[in-house]
Amino acid sequence: MRMERVPLIELCGLSRAYPAGEGTITVLKDITLAIAEGEMVAIVGASGSGKSTLMNILGCLDRPTRGAYRIAGQETSDLDADALAALRREHFGFIFQRYHLLSELTALGNVEIPAIYAGTQAEARRTRASGLLARLGMADRTTHRPGQLSGGQQQRVSIARALMNGAQVILADEPTGALDSKSGAEVLRILDELHAEGRTIIIVTHDMGVAERAQRIIEIRDGEIVADRPGKGGARVDTAHMDTALSDRFGRPPPERAPGSARGQVPAPISRAARATAYAGRLKEALRMALLAMAAHRLRTFLTMLGIIIGIASVVCVVALGEGSRQRVLADISGLGTNTLEIFAGRSFGDTRSGRITTLVVADADALARQPYVAAVTPTVSTQSTVRFGAIEANALVNGVGQGYFAARGTKLAQGRFFDRDSVRALALDAVIDENTRKALFKDVDPIGQVMLVGSVFCRVVGVTAPQQGGFGGSQNLSIYLPYTTVQARFLGSTSLRSITVRVADDTDVALAEQQVTRFLTQRHGMKDFFILNTDDIRKTITATTQTMTALIAAIAVISLLVGGIGVMNIMLVSVSERVGEIGVRMAVGARQADILQQFLIEAVLVCVVGGIAGIALALGFGALFALTGSNFQLVYSAASIVAAVACASLIGVAFGYLPARNAARLDPVAALARD
Ligand code: ADP
Ligand code: MG
Repeated sequence: MRMERVPLIELCGLSRAYPAGEGTITVLKDITLAIAEGEMVAIVGASGSGKSTLMNILGCLDRPTRGAYRIAGQETSDLDADALAALRREHFGFIFQRYHLLSELTALGNVEIPAIYAGTQAEARRTRASGLLARLGMADRTTHRPGQLSGGQQQRVSIARALMNGAQVILADEPTGALDSKSGAEVLRILDELHAEGRTIIIVTHDMGVAERAQRIIEIRDGEIVADRPGKGGARVDTAHMDTALSDRFGRPPPERAPGSARGQVPAPISRAARATAYAGRLKEALRMALLAMAAHRLRTFLTMLGIIIGIASVVCVVALGEGSRQRVLADISGLGTNTLEIFAGRSFGDTRSGRITTLVVADADALARQPYVAAVTPTVSTQSTVRFGAIEANALVNGVGQGYFAARGTKLAQGRFFDRDSVRALALDAVIDENTRKALFKDVDPIGQVMLVGSVFCRVVGVTAPQQGGFGGSQNLSIYLPYTTVQARFLGSTSLRSITVRVADDTDVALAEQQVTRFLTQRHGMKDFFILNTDDIRKTITATTQTMTALIAAIAVISLLVGGIGVMNIMLVSVSERVGEIGVRMAVGARQADILQQFLIEAVLVCVVGGIAGIALALGFGALFALTGSNFQLVYSAASIVAAVACASLIGVAFGYLPARNAARLDPVAALARD
């Protein structure tokens, strides 16, 4: 009755050809073969006769060029890469001549891999893997790495791995080929046991002694089956009576497989929650593998990261620098007050003739002061001059200002007083000095009441201004304030003004006042030989300028980030090509293309994100260092820019890691395995 069932494995007119030079070479020719469930079959033949090629096709690692391959009646040529991976994962167990263990994982870790891709819970996975290893006499070797195990022990680990998902069919390609006779005999004994449990065993060998242990010997010569005869192995096990036996020693895997699905059909649907947990498990595994790979190449990983670190640090710094200087300038401007207009001689800033334009005069200021929309007016003039006190001489900017200047500018006093209306009227020689001048000239002396020489004029210091928060003048210049009348008479010998600062009345709109002032002065002068800045204009101009500068420098920083990304891509390509063998092994035990893609993508993203975080730390460190230099502004880091930097780093990881990861995922499993 069992004999009438569909054979488990069925090949029909199957060929496999490889391209060779101009034409092709056919390695398997028109193979027709059926293997029933529970059989133990030996495939023998000379080296190069096509045994491994046949084995790879049987295990769904490779596809036939022509002909049909049916597993439990299902045609495999219709299946896509992931469906084939599922078959390998759930139904086949590979044992290779060269073990193909992953060297950076322990014995236990190696055995667990197929279950990770099958989505088994970590706990169940570990229990089952150590159970299998114990059963194979490896209980005290679970934490050893392949390099610390003998050949026979490694082969036992690989057998445990093949059994991890409860493989129905064991495919062993020269499993004893690399072993001494004692270990070889041990491996064969295990295979016999697996057969006795009802598993289908297909073993490739060129050793007739080994082959005779099977029930059936298939001989291949030059890609063709030349003999198919019974061996001396025990009678075929009737699996109908073995179903209970399956659960004991090596055990069927605990999870989701419904009884019907063991025959290559679609497994019973799994709940969404279970699928999510399984996916999370695979993700965690991919993360662990990425960390392992990074740790295995620390220096290389660090150098790759360096590109990202520098890129991210420079982007974050530039943005913080731009923001810092913008805030600084805006703070300075708000010190000017929001309702002031500054009237300058000339057409605009940088008008080279403005020094010779003498039409802006005190009379203009007086006339403006009488306008209803003007609250206060202070004319200003300025010149450079030397100042001397005792033996110390320095250069200073001499500002001639009205008594209302300090109030209009929001300047505070540290010491003494400002000069008043009478001082202006009387051309008094009362000077207010700034903090820099005090430091330069009056190191150990109280400046108030001291007489200093400005140019050739003796002036008495009446006040010291409090240090301004930066300001346009720059922090190193010395500034001295005298009544503008004094500066005009004693220094300039002219009555023209550099500028007039107008404070607009509180109830008047600044823009409207600006129009009125323009009309008024144009009428007085007969032409428009002045220009007006209001603080809002200045704010806009400066904001635009700093934004342009920031954007420019940021563009350069972004380029460095791009270069870093290319470095990541480069090293990921190297990493993939170094680990082709590992990829092949993972595919052989049932990793999906998405699993491989994910593993390498995670590695790339991890390098970038860790690099990004280090870059941010570097930028913050730079900011702290910058603050120590005592600059008059600070780097301003926004949370948004930091979040953006991390996001940017991850994005670079995905963008530049994708190509290498995709290359890895698209590798042909057989070719990948062959390269190990
Ligand atoms: P066996 O396992 O019996 O020693 P194989 O199945 O490995 O032999 O190889 C059979 C033949 O197929 C060999 O002649 C080999 O050179 C050829 N072959 C195997 N893989 C490839 C390939 N990827 N490209 C071209 N020829 C191949
Ligand atoms: Mg071979």
